[in-house]
Amino acid sequence: MVAIRKQVNGSSLIEVHNLVKVYKTPAGDFAAVKGIDVDVKAGEFVGIIGKSGSGKSTFINMLTGIDRPTSGEVIIGGAPVHTFNESQMAAWRGRNLGIVFQFFQLLPTLTLLENIILPMELNKQYAPRERRKRAMSLLERVEMEHQADKLPSAVSGGQQQRVAIARALANDPPLIVADEPTGNLDSKTANKIFELFEELAASGKTILMVTHDSDLARRVNRTIVISDGEIVNEYLVRALSALTQDQLVEVARRVKPQAFARDASIIRQGEMGDKFYILLDGKADVLIEQPGGTEILVNQLEAGQYFGEMALMGNGIRTATVKAASDGGAKVAALDSKTFSDLIADSRVLREELAGLIEQRATANEVKSLSGVKHDDLLSMVKGAQAKTCAAGSEIIRQGALGDSFFIIEDGKVDVWIKSADGNETRVNQLKRGQYFGEMALLGDRRRNASVRVSKDGPARLIELGEQEFQKLVNASEGIKQKVQDEAGKRKKELEQVHKSTRRR
Ligand code: ADP
Ligand code: MG
Repeated sequence: MVAIRKQVNGSSLIEVHNLVKVYKTPAGDFAAVKGIDVDVKAGEFVGIIGKSGSGKSTFINMLTGIDRPTSGEVIIGGAPVHTFNESQMAAWRGRNLGIVFQFFQLLPTLTLLENIILPMELNKQYAPRERRKRAMSLLERVEMEHQADKLPSAVSGGQQQRVAIARALANDPPLIVADEPTGNLDSKTANKIFELFEELAASGKTILMVTHDSDLARRVNRTIVISDGEIVNEYLVRALSALTQDQLVEVARRVKPQAFARDASIIRQGEMGDKFYILLDGKADVLIEQPGGTEILVNQLEAGQYFGEMALMGNGIRTATVKAASDGGAKVAALDSKTFSDLIADSRVLREELAGLIEQRATANEVKSLSGVKHDDLLSMVKGAQAKTCAAGSEIIRQGALGDSFFIIEDGKVDVWIKSADGNETRVNQLKRGQYFGEMALLGDRRRNASVRVSKDGPARLIELGEQEFQKLVNASEGIKQKVQDEAGKRKKELEQVHKSTRRR
C-alpha cells in the first residue's frame, strides 16, 4: 500500500486531472462535475465554496474515495486514488486522510474516547497500549477531555464536531477533508470549530474545506469556487474578491476569456473603451504615450489584477495602452460595460476598491509621465512656485524617514545615497536642473527609500511640492494630464470622423 510520503510544504500534494462525474438518473445522464483540474500544495488551507448543488460534495467525495469518478485522475501524495479497489482505498484512507462531515457522524453506541480509538484499531499504526493515551491527548487538543466517557448524544453539536475533528486526527494524517463542518452549528460555535482548523493548518496539515460561510471562506489561504460542476478561474476570484459569491458566479458565467499574443494591444490610449478586463494568465504592460510619441512603461500587471476601469468610470476614453507582455502574451477575461455597471451598482465594496485604485493608478501614471517631460518643460510648468536655496552638502530627505513632498531642482545638483544593512552609504545617482526626486511618496510609499543631499560642489535651488500642489501641477493647463487628454480628444475626433465617413459610404 502506498502511504503519503513526508511532504515538503509547497510541493504538490493533490493533483486532479480532468475529473468528471456523471450521475445516471431516470431523466438521463447528469454531469455534476465537468472536468476539474486542480493542484493543491502541501500545507495549503483551501476553502471550497459555491452554490448548493454546484458539485462541491461530489468533487471532494472523489478525493476521499467516498465516490468514484466517471473519468479523470486523482493523485494524492503520488498515490493514484482513482484506481484503488475498495480494500486498497480503505487502507489508504485510514492512514492518509482525516474526514470531517457536516453531521459529525460519531458512532452513537461508543463513548467519545472510543470513537477516537476506533480508527487507530482499524489502522494499527499505533501500538494497542498507546491508543488510549493518544486518544486522550487528542481530546485535550479539542478541549473535550473531561467528557471522554460520555456518549455523543450527551454533548452539544459543537462538542460532537470537536470530537469528530479529534477522530479525524487519530492516525495523524497529512490531509484533512471537511464538508461543511460548520454548516450545522450556530455562528459562535462555527467560529470555534474554524479556529481549530486554522490551528491544524498552522501545524502543517493540508486542509480542504467546503464551506457555505463566506466570512469563514475569506480566512483561508486559497479559495476554489465551484459553479455548475466547474472551477471558476482562481485569478478571476482573486481579482473580484470584493464581490459576493453569487455575484462572482454570475460574472464567471458571463465573461469570455480571450488570449492575446505577445506585444498585442488589448486596449489603446485615446480610444473609446467599453470593456473591463481581468488578467487570468501571463502579464500585461501598461504604457502611456507622451505627446512626442514616445511610450513610457508605467506598470506591469499580473494574473489576478484588472484594468480598463478608468475609462468605464470616467469619460470612456482609455487613459493608457495595455499590451500583452513581450515574454509570453496574456489571457484576459473581458466584461462588457453593462455587466460592469451592474456590478458596481450592486457592490459598494467593489465601488470603493475601484475608486481607491483609480486614484492610486492615476497618480502613479502622472508621476511616471513626468519622466517623459523635457526638463525645461517641467520647470516652465512650475514657474512661479517658491524655490528655496539649500547649502552645499545639506540633507533634503533621509532614507527611512516619513515624507510626503516632491522636489524639482531649479538649479544646482543633488546626490542620491542608499544606505545598506551594514550601514555603508553608496551614491547611486546625481540629479541636475529640471530633474526631480521624492516621487515615491506620491505613489503611496511614504517612507523614503534613499537619502538625497545637495552636492558638495555648491548650493542648489529646489522647488518643494506637497501632494496637493503636485496634483495642481499635473492638472495645470500645461500639465501632463492635459497634454495626454488633448491627445486623447484629438484621437477621439479623428475616430468619429472615420466612423462618420464610413457611415456615409
Ligand atoms: P453541493 O455539495 O455543491 O451542494 P452536490 O455535489 O451534492 O452539490 O451535488 C451536485 C449535483 O449533483 C446536484 O445537482 C445533485 O442533485 C446532483 N447529485 C448528487 N448526487 C447525486 C446522485 N447520487 N444521483 C443523481 N444526482 C446527484
Ligand atoms: Mg454538499
